[in-house]
Amino acid sequence: MDIFYALRVLQHRGQESAGIAVYNNGIKVIKGMGLAHQALKPDDVKNLKGDRGIGHVRYSTFGSSTIENAQPIVVSTNYGDIALCHNGEIVNADKIMDELKKKGWAFITSTDSEIAVRLLANDIANTGDPVKSLKNLMTMLQGSYSMTLMIDSRVFAIRDPLGIRPLCVGRTKTGYAAASESVVFDTLGGEFLRDVEPGEIVELLPGEVKSIKTGLAKGRAHCMFEWVYIARADSTIEGQLVYEVRRRIGQKLAKEQPVEADVVVPIPDSGRSHAIGYAEVAGIPYSEGLMKNRYVERTFIMPEQAERTTNVMLKLNPLKSVIKDKRVVLVDDSIVRGTTIRQIVQLVRNAGAKEVHVRVGSPPIRAPCYFGIDMKTRDQFAATGRTVEEIGKMITADSLGYISVEGLVEGIGLPAGDLCLGCLTEEYPMAVPGEKVRYQKKLDSFV
Ligand code: SF4
Repeated sequence: MDIFYALRVLQHRGQESAGIAVYNNGIKVIKGMGLAHQALKPDDVKNLKGDRGIGHVRYSTFGSSTIENAQPIVVSTNYGDIALCHNGEIVNADKIMDELKKKGWAFITSTDSEIAVRLLANDIANTGDPVKSLKNLMTMLQGSYSMTLMIDSRVFAIRDPLGIRPLCVGRTKTGYAAASESVVFDTLGGEFLRDVEPGEIVELLPGEVKSIKTGLAKGRAHCMFEWVYIARADSTIEGQLVYEVRRRIGQKLAKEQPVEADVVVPIPDSGRSHAIGYAEVAGIPYSEGLMKNRYVERTFIMPEQAERTTNVMLKLNPLKSVIKDKRVVLVDDSIVRGTTIRQIVQLVRNAGAKEVHVRVGSPPIRAPCYFGIDMKTRDQFAATGRTVEEIGKMITADSLGYISVEGLVEGIGLPAGDLCLGCLTEEYPMAVPGEKVRYQKKLDSFV
């Protein structure tokens, strides 16, 4: 049951499908489409007996949103069953898949995660040693991956050599666990212990979290978007409480992008902490001017644009008494496509606002993400080919102001060199064909 509750806690990270695998004389798995409580029937969860397991909520970036692609992925091998859950994206997945298909390998799903589990199964057949094979797998994969795995009855978690996506370990009432966010341990009445290091393998044993260093770590490149939007405000990632990071970003945003106004209104939920920080420094009253329907899913991570558009209207309702005849500063965490914020600006204007100024807690997103966030082509971004003024016009705001990259980095509180800022700076922490690697002066060396 703990795993089911953990998936509910991490529901904001993926809403397309959910699944749980447990070990009980072999690996048993249940999965389905939708939110965890819809995808997994209470009786099925209750009947899933086992003292160890892994679970997953899916947000697709590689492979479509279908039940075949739901995780955990389980394969059966001579060594025993292997189950894998993956957060992130394997940059060289297409290349590996093409090579394997030429060798006669067949794939059931269209996910990069299946490639990983098959490579691992194949390697274990040769080594007979799960730890050695996990290390080998980590040398074959490029990209972002925080994974939990069961190899027969053993439970592991691995994090890619740059630590792009978060992964941490903690104690629960019944033992040790690994999760994408520390909030899982708070909610299960446990205790956060530490982040898994980039390039580290951990094995969860009954009495300890065993660390296995691979020597593969290549510095750090934690995704800035986790602090800006993805993670829950009450999670701590790399020692930085997400709520405090967002508040600091909001404070810096107020210094960099001041405006004369009567009220600061957050765009709930992820813009809320940014707005609190903005209001504190700007000295403008903060007020909840947009009420959120809590039962509508997050719009950014919905797979289809049409779904996103309808959901904005279902999701937010303006409070006229807060907004009418006021100069409103709307504070949001980020602007990706610009369609959602445009609708919200109009909603606020229709509610009687005198002026609507938009302030944003991340710099303009202008380049694709190759590491696990579904922002794939430049033409979808509001910032592509537009100045800030032009974006402001597009979203029908009276003014628009973004935080600078420097302000964002200071707000996160880690050195810029420890962060991935690829979608902001167009310089990525690893080689991606057609893109610059960070610190690379010009684009001249791609295969
Ligand atoms: S490109 Fe952007 S969204 Fe993707 S990992 Fe890097 S910072 Fe995060």
